[in-house]
Amino acid sequence: MTYDQNNIFAKILRGEIPCDKIYESDHALAFKDIHPQAKVHVLVIPKGAYVNMDDFSQNASSEEITGLIRALGEVAKIIGVSQYSSGKGYRYIGNNGPDGGQEVPHLHFHIVGGEPLGRMVSTKS
Ligand code: 5GP
Repeated sequence: MTYDQNNIFAKILRGEIPCDKIYESDHALAFKDIHPQAKVHVLVIPKGAYVNMDDFSQNASSEEITGLIRALGEVAKIIGVSQYSSGKGYRYIGNNGPDGGQEVPHLHFHIVGGEPLGRMVSTKS
C-alpha cells in the first residue's frame, strides 16, 4: 500500500498548512474538521504514515495503536462528548477505501456529536 506524502493530513502533520488543533501526543493529532457535519466534528489521526485501517492494523506498532485509541478517548473528554466529561455521547467513524467513502488517504477517525445523530448508515450519496 503506497502512502501519498502530499495528502492534506500529511501536510497538516508537517505544519505546512494550519489546523484548529484540539490535542496532540507522541502518536496522534486531533483537530476540527474543516466542514463539520454536526455541532461537534473532530478528526483524530495517527502521526505515522498510514493510508487507512487496513494499513494501520497490519503495520503499526503496539505503541502507535495504543496511542491512537487513547487519543480517541482523551479527545472525546476534551470536546465534552464523553461520559467522563458529562457528555451525552458521540459517534466515531472511520471511512476506509473507495466504498467506505474515504477521501483523504491518511488514516483518520471522525468524532461527531454535540447533538442527537441520525441513522448509522445510509447508502445514499
Ligand atoms: P473522509 O471522507 O476521508 O473520511 O474525511 C475527510 C475529512 O477531512 C472530511 O470530513 C473533510 O471535511 C476533512 N478535511 C479535508 N480537508 C481538510 C483540511 O484541510 N483541514 C481540515 N481540518 N479538515 C479537512
